[in-house]
Amino acid sequence: MGVVPRELWKKEHPPDDKNRIRLNLTCPLIMKGREAVLVDTGIGNRLRDVERKIFGHEDGWLLDGLSALGMEPGDITHVVLSHLHFDHCGGVVRRRPSDGLVAAFPRARYFVQRGEIEVASGSSNERMRAAYRHAAECLQPIAPLLEPIAGDTTVIPGVQALVTGGHTVDHQVVLVQEAHDAFVHLADIVPTRSHIRGPWNQAYDLDPLTTMERKAHYLERAVAQRWWISFAHDDQIFTAHVGKEGGKLTLSDTVGVPREYEVNRRRASQDA
Ligand SMILES: [Zn+2]
Repeated sequence: MGVVPRELWKKEHPPDDKNRIRLNLTCPLIMKGREAVLVDTGIGNRLRDVERKIFGHEDGWLLDGLSALGMEPGDITHVVLSHLHFDHCGGVVRRRPSDGLVAAFPRARYFVQRGEIEVASGSSNERMRAAYRHAAECLQPIAPLLEPIAGDTTVIPGVQALVTGGHTVDHQVVLVQEAHDAFVHLADIVPTRSHIRGPWNQAYDLDPLTTMERKAHYLERAVAQRWWISFAHDDQIFTAHVGKEGGKLTLSDTVGVPREYEVNRRRASQDA
C-alpha cells in the first residue's frame, strides 16, 4: 500500500500473522472470433517450495479455468504481459514432473514491451535485478514465440496494449473496445479495489507519480464512457463499472470472485 498507513487499510485487507494480505492473480481472457487473448499468466507452478511458502501460493486455476471453458493451453493465440514481474509472467512456463520448463501456451504469440525485456535482462541496480531474477528462466522457453513491442500496439482488432509506465518503466494495460462496450484491465496501476484512490499505490511502483497520473487518466475515461475495469490482484472483485459520487470514485455492477475460489483460498492459507 505504499505510503498509506496500515491503520487505514487493515480493515479492508486484513493482514495475517505474517503481515500478508490476500491477493488474486487475475488474468482476463478475451475471446474474439478464433482469437483467444490472455492477459498475464499469474505465478504458474515454477516456484520452489520455499518461495511458495513465503507467498502462501497454491497452484493456480488458470489451466483449470481454461478447461472449464472447454479450452486447452494450445487454444490461446496471444498472451499479453503487462510487465515481467514473477506474479504476472511466471505462468508463461509450466514446470514438468521431470523438472524441465516448457512454454505453457505453446501456440501463442507473446507480446511484451521491448523496454521491459531489456530491463529484465540485466540492470546495474540491485533492486531491479532482484525484481527480475526469475525473468531469464521464464523467457528462455518462450523465446521463439516472443514478440517484443515498442509503445502502444494493436494486438488484434479491438484489443490494444497501452503503455502506462509507473509500476515499471514499460508497464502496459489492455483495452478492449467494441461498438458499445469497453473493458480495460488496469493490471498493476490499479491492483485492487482500494487502489482506485489517487495516493493508494504499491510500494513496488518505480514511479508512483506516473502511476497516479496514468490511473487517473484511465479511470476518468472509464467513468465517462462506462468502461468495465478489472484489477490484477483484488481478492473480491473481478470487474466493475466505476462512477463518481461527490468527487469520489465508486464501484458498481461488481462481478465477484466465485465461491469455489474462496474454498481453494482457505485451503491455501491453511497450508501456508
Ligand atoms: Zn502484480
